[in-house]
Amino acid sequence: MFRKLFSGLKKTREAILGTVQKLVNSFHKIDEEFLTSLEKNLLSADVGVKMTETILKRLKENAKEINSSPNGELNLQVEKIIQSVFTESLQKNSIKQNINHKKPHIILIVGVNGVGKTTTIGKLAHKFVKENKKVVIGAADTFRAAANEQLNIWANRAKVNLVQQKPGADPAAVAFDTISSAKSTNADVVLIDTAGRLHTKSSLMEELSKIKRVIKKTDETAPHEILIVLDASIGQNGLAQAKEFNSAVGLTGIILTKLDGTAKGGIVFSIVNEFQIPIKYIGVGEGIDDIEDFNSEEFIQSLFIKNNV
Ligand code: GDP
Ligand code: GDP
Ligand code: MG
Repeated sequence: MFRKLFSGLKKTREAILGTVQKLVNSFHKIDEEFLTSLEKNLLSADVGVKMTETILKRLKENAKEINSSPNGELNLQVEKIIQSVFTESLQKNSIKQNINHKKPHIILIVGVNGVGKTTTIGKLAHKFVKENKKVVIGAADTFRAAANEQLNIWANRAKVNLVQQKPGADPAAVAFDTISSAKSTNADVVLIDTAGRLHTKSSLMEELSKIKRVIKKTDETAPHEILIVLDASIGQNGLAQAKEFNSAVGLTGIILTKLDGTAKGGIVFSIVNEFQIPIKYIGVGEGIDDIEDFNSEEFIQSLFIKNNV
């Protein structure tokens, strides 16, 4: 598990730590030039303005002490400060999830096209099945004709039931059917996939609001979670998406996909600084097992350890 996270974060780790090493090699001390270059690199890894400022401030405050540390330790001292700023920020984000409190536990998955909603639903279904939970998936992305088929493949892989209707059907009706089916089969978890045309189109937000409203008819405490899927590789744009969906339907959590293959994993810190919404899961590949609970300690460790564990 940890190993996968470690390898998934390779590019981000290089963008942050590799850069520190390079800067230490060329400047040999913390000075204005060092800080300017570091700032640029942290921002391009999408660590965010606030966090970058905090890191620079902390380095400046400690520059004298760090610069007088023995040769070869400069790198380590700088890393230590970055790590402590990262850790402090993620401590705010240590909300634990519990999927047992309601049955069925209804999870609505939202997000724009292509971020990985459908794939993530397949992965989550598989994960819950491994935890001995009975899962039903609802295909409420009725807009794209191919969506049903794609979700069907994932439901088969995860060996769970799928509720779907014809393309073009009312997504809210599909959600309702899915929950009815989950109740009658005594399922533990319902995962509802949704369409994701551009979030700037108010019709999508209306559609999602309607789905939410109809779900509430089945259980007024539902949906128990509304999780937005964000593609880590698009960096700061993801923050705008989260804001928009949050004001339209209210989000309970974030799933950050495609952390593998991007150097923009620093987006985790931007999200934590910007929102009170926890990151719940991270996607680290296209396979069914390539999802993990977001654990801030493991995340930080994976960014800072030098060798595989
Ligand atoms: P949707 O439009 O939001 O439902 O997105 P899809 O689930 O169809 O995924 C879009 C693409 O992203 C697919 O090619 C997936 O394989 C890919 N994808 C999803 N999650 C991940 C991930 O964590 N890592 C990588 N590398 N690719 C992913
Ligand atoms: P536009 O927003 O005017 O460009 O309309 P679209 O081309 O996106 O959609 C055309 C028709 O399909 C409209 O009647 C919409 O109600 C319907 N539609 C569009 N997007 C979705 C969707 O994501 N889900 C569902 N169920 N219907 C949609
Ligand atoms: Mg999809």
